[in-house]
Amino acid sequence: MKVYLDNGATTKTAPEVVKVMQEYLSEKYGNASSLHSFGEEASLALENARSVIAKKINAEPDEIIFTSGGTESDNLAVKGVACATNKKHIITTRIEHPAVYKSCEALQSQGYRITYLKVDRDGFISFKDLEASISDDTALVSIIHANNEIGTIQDIDKIGAICKKRNIIFHIDAVQSFTRVPIDVKKTNVDLISLSAHKIHGPKGIGALYVRKGIKLKKFMDGGPHEKNLRAGTENVAGAVGFAKAVQLVTQDHLKKLEKLRDKLMNNILKEIPETMLNGSYSKRLVNNVNITFKKVEGESLLLLLNDKGIAVSTGSACSSKSLQPSHVLLAIGLKHEDAHGSIRFTLSRYTTEKELKYTLKVLKDSVKKLREISPLWRKNAVH
Ligand SMILES: *Cc1c(COP(=O)(O)O)cnc(C)c1O
Repeated sequence: MKVYLDNGATTKTAPEVVKVMQEYLSEKYGNASSLHSFGEEASLALENARSVIAKKINAEPDEIIFTSGGTESDNLAVKGVACATNKKHIITTRIEHPAVYKSCEALQSQGYRITYLKVDRDGFISFKDLEASISDDTALVSIIHANNEIGTIQDIDKIGAICKKRNIIFHIDAVQSFTRVPIDVKKTNVDLISLSAHKIHGPKGIGALYVRKGIKLKKFMDGGPHEKNLRAGTENVAGAVGFAKAVQLVTQDHLKKLEKLRDKLMNNILKEIPETMLNGSYSKRLVNNVNITFKKVEGESLLLLLNDKGIAVSTGSACSSKSLQPSHVLLAIGLKHEDAHGSIRFTLSRYTTEKELKYTLKVLKDSVKKLREISPLWRKNAVH
């Protein structure tokens, strides 16, 4: 049995998405900037896709900029804002995706001051800390909406209100939350939102940045005036069409089903496997994320045993899974190094079945037992 539980890293491209993209990779291959009928056909499809994505967050179509993905959107938001003002201070958190924190580190090396807000055991920032760290020199607050490792969803209404009161630009990385947590830019004060298609059953290599009207950004790619002159380069029409289709395919039923499956997997692991604990918030949690620490187990070994049985999971985030540094997110919520190393992320999708999860639980139980039997740490404290 093959079980894919690494949907936080990437998702299967929905067959419906592949189908609509095919046309724009073959017959409808025009350049959206061209003035002839081929170009017009491509341009219409691109603008239609833009409207679909805008509508999902209650934005205007011309507030959506297509990019090559979440990483580019994060870079454009963070560096774009920083380089468009004279202010030199940025506030972010200790649990950001590398696309945001590496952007901040790059700015730091150019003389910007960065505040990394700490988070509590569930992964929430403190509003008090946020308020206290804002100064006249603050250009931007950038906060991950739903964390890609532990699934915790921040209260962007509250954070947005704080930013508005102090007149600070507010960016969220919503790559994981998009279509899974409602976002309404007319109700929530958020100025920039990073999105990506491949985390929601769209294709890889296309994303978007919502830019609220009036927000000034510095562009990075020199070239044509594409995408409101913020992102040069011939538009990825097939990608945009696929991205929009992926958005349209998500239903409330999918989310409800996912939540049920998630709770079942989460509760069964915690109940049936001793010395396990949940990472991230129990209640304000992504519908498809389960992150568990298996005490006295080496996460990499567990991942490999699961892989032998056809089950794909991850330790920490995919980007750091090949290094042996413990996840910065798990350390930020207060895990000890050995517990961070013994943590596994299971991320579900609408294609995940109950049968797959039953199989996963069984393999997991056997594998954890096996690893603990040969673990000196486990045997030393044995009362089992
Ligand atoms: C995957 C991911 C990204 C990067 O998106 P890409 O489209 O893969 O570049 C950024 N932020 C978060 C939270 C992610 O999960």
